[in-house]
Amino acid sequence: MLHLERVSTFYGKIQALHEVSLYLAKGEIVSLIGANGAGKSTLLMTLCGTPQAASGSIRYEGEELVGQPTYRIMRKGIAVVPEGRRVFARLSIEENLALGGFFASKQGQQQQLDHILRLFPRLAERFSQRAGTMSGGEQQMLAIGRALMSRPRLLLLDEPSLGLAPLVIGEIFKTLAKLREEGVTIFLVEQNANQALRLADRAYVLENGRIVMQGEGRALLQDPKVQETYLGA
Ligand code: ATP
Repeated sequence: MLHLERVSTFYGKIQALHEVSLYLAKGEIVSLIGANGAGKSTLLMTLCGTPQAASGSIRYEGEELVGQPTYRIMRKGIAVVPEGRRVFARLSIEENLALGGFFASKQGQQQQLDHILRLFPRLAERFSQRAGTMSGGEQQMLAIGRALMSRPRLLLLDEPSLGLAPLVIGEIFKTLAKLREEGVTIFLVEQNANQALRLADRAYVLENGRIVMQGEGRALLQDPKVQETYLGA
């Protein structure tokens, strides 16, 4: 579904990504793990077209994305849940979700809203509450729900577990597994290697802007180098 080939990205003269190649098959959860500053967010944002890849190719459903503006990329069935959630704090849950479904038809919006409220019953309970008054976990659920309003085929998530308690992370990751069953392809960028590798069908390790390891999620969990560097073993 998504193929990156030798993608390099720069901030001015600083090279943040070095010839990154990876792929996602339809219906997979693929995790990208790496330490602070490895370039995980840069990779995710390069997929979205900001910043643009300086070289290499990003093919999505057979189409080249490099060179296309972000607004166009985001209308191709791709949705992103940004780092730090970025919900609209002063708007209600209902309003935040409505913004995510901005481009959908009225009927499509209602169906998808019902579906999201079944996935995250907590959002239904607090439908008219202001997003800024919710817990971190609830805000993360809202950020995911908002992204799902556009009915993406490919969902990109930037560190959804950041700052959340293990129980809440478990709940959110279970929902990601459910979305996979529905056929949504998921690219999960995470510092929380343990949970991200458990959930993933396959995973990649990014170090200093380079892919240094790849494999099945569970196999990487058992790898001594991964254990030492990312699992604190
Ligand atoms: P974190 O988990 O801390 O967000 P990350 O793996 O997502 O880390 P990036 O945020 O992608 O890493 O950063 C990769 C490198 O690019 C870092 O050296 C960072 O300082 C640099 N970088 C990121 N954004 C910019 C920017 N807007 N301008 C210049 N350099 C940047």
